[in-house]
Amino acid sequence: MTDGSLTGYRVLARKYRPDRFSELIGQDALVRTLSNALSLGRLAHAFVLTGVRGVGKTSTARLLARGLNCIGPDGTGQPTLEPCGQCEPCQAIAAGRHVDVLEIDAASHTGVDDAREIIESVGYRPVSARYKIYVIDEVHMMSKNAFNALLKTLEEPPETVKFIFATTEIRKVPVTILSRCQRFDLRRVPSEVLATHLQSVCEKESIAAESEALTAIARAAEGSVRDALSLLDQAAAMSADRMTVDSIAEMLGRPGRADAIAILDSAMRGDAASSLAALASAHDGGAEPEMIIADLMDLVHRASLKAAGGSPDALLEVEREPVTALAELGIARLGRSWQMLLKGHGEVSSAPQPMAAAEMLLIRLAHLATMPPPSDIIRRLAADQPDAANNQPGAAPAGNTAAPSASSAAPTPPTAGPQTAPHPSSAATAPIGSLPSAPIAMSANGGDMQTAMEPVRAVPADVAEPGPAMPQSLLDISDLAEAHDEPLLAAQIRSHVRLVRLQDGLLDISLTERAPDSLAGDIAKQLTRWTGTRWMVSLSDGPAGQTIAEERQQARQAQHDSIAATPLMKTILEVFPGAEIESVKPVIQPDEDQDQ
Ligand SMILES: [Zn+2]
Repeated sequence: MTDGSLTGYRVLARKYRPDRFSELIGQDALVRTLSNALSLGRLAHAFVLTGVRGVGKTSTARLLARGLNCIGPDGTGQPTLEPCGQCEPCQAIAAGRHVDVLEIDAASHTGVDDAREIIESVGYRPVSARYKIYVIDEVHMMSKNAFNALLKTLEEPPETVKFIFATTEIRKVPVTILSRCQRFDLRRVPSEVLATHLQSVCEKESIAAESEALTAIARAAEGSVRDALSLLDQAAAMSADRMTVDSIAEMLGRPGRADAIAILDSAMRGDAASSLAALASAHDGGAEPEMIIADLMDLVHRASLKAAGGSPDALLEVEREPVTALAELGIARLGRSWQMLLKGHGEVSSAPQPMAAAEMLLIRLAHLATMPPPSDIIRRLAADQPDAANNQPGAAPAGNTAAPSASSAAPTPPTAGPQTAPHPSSAATAPIGSLPSAPIAMSANGGDMQTAMEPVRAVPADVAEPGPAMPQSLLDISDLAEAHDEPLLAAQIRSHVRLVRLQDGLLDISLTERAPDSLAGDIAKQLTRWTGTRWMVSLSDGPAGQTIAEERQQARQAQHDSIAATPLMKTILEVFPGAEIESVKPVIQPDEDQDQ
């Protein structure tokens, strides 16, 4: 083709269509299975070939048709995986003019009439060949009726008939059909194999190309031999002399790999300005914002594979070092970046100004780099609220005596961190509703962005000291119920009782609508029993407080609001668009998790 004359030029994808199974690229498993079946004489009546576009389904179907009907140069050959290419059937099939080999594209012939035609012709013996062969491409496109008609034939196929189906969507082919076929899954061709193939084509065609350029084409083809050869055709036509990585990048509308690396590297270092500059330069060079983001995702993906101990497929020379450096950021960080890029990619695709969306995305990505990891955020949040943080759930009023003795033994706390300073007094006087300091469980859209949670301590229930002590509050009463093994009553008290008045032996309450009728009576009876004092419980219309449950809910909301209002949390919510504070949970103090 370098000689200029385009007349008679055959596109590479056609010129290098395989003539024999040994030339089929990247489908070794299929070839082995077929050759075994052939040598054992165990050929099915019907085959289904499935795989993504361009991996060689049609080529395989035609090769198989030739192999089945080849009679060899001397006319005595048997079915073979190496069709001779010289006998009459071989040549006629290759030229698409053999009367006994029918190629049908189901995408354009989906009706039952076509199927009926097939069935009618199935009854006749082959005119000249060994087998009558029906190659049905895109078989999943056939109508239901056509499938039914075909099924009858497949159930009792004449000895001399073979079906070869090809499909990109095997799931749409009825199981009744599949179960009567020998199935072959054609694999996507690995980039390395494709690149090697391209190399050999270039040598035969005298195309000068950098091997990196061929790797770039192979990767863009995503496993399709046909696409790879078409791209090579295109690139060869565009490259005056030598095909380079940059010329390929330009042709594909992608940033050069070096550009993509510069954009990502700056963003991951938190340098938004440099990242934006690199983006602008790639854009000026003709790269589409969507493609740029896709390439960044590709880099992050490869780095994640590496970080996870895998080996990313077909790394370009220019990528090796940056990908290794990225991998060192760790899977967690890469995972967050990936998620942000994935979401951003959708925004870039749908934004009226894709470039603006890409810029916003890079700014967020750079901002993420300056953020501490979630585990540190949790610690900082805890540190921001020392009082609340010290309100250890374990330090309940009854435990008052234990804490000071622990701190008086200060010289020898085995697991104490540098800052061990329990404040038992603040814990003891903590109001009912106040919850301990809390990390935040965030969920972004995907819900995958759960921050690592510190183990949560259960609040002990043994707060009440059973005995003659008279309850002073609703909470005391519900605690009494818990202490006397009446969890249901305790729960009912917390949910349904509003306090109007509480004095020695007198309890005036109002109840919520959903309170059980017997609740007031139950409370009176049990209080009398627990305290040894006679209790009067009456329902009152007087001004009542909130239920314990309502108080707690309110306290939680207040805490939620105050956390959302901290500068750190505001930043988090900005940086993770769509994130929200999902729940607020108690956490043990930062200095106590060192022994984990
Ligand atoms: Zn032949």
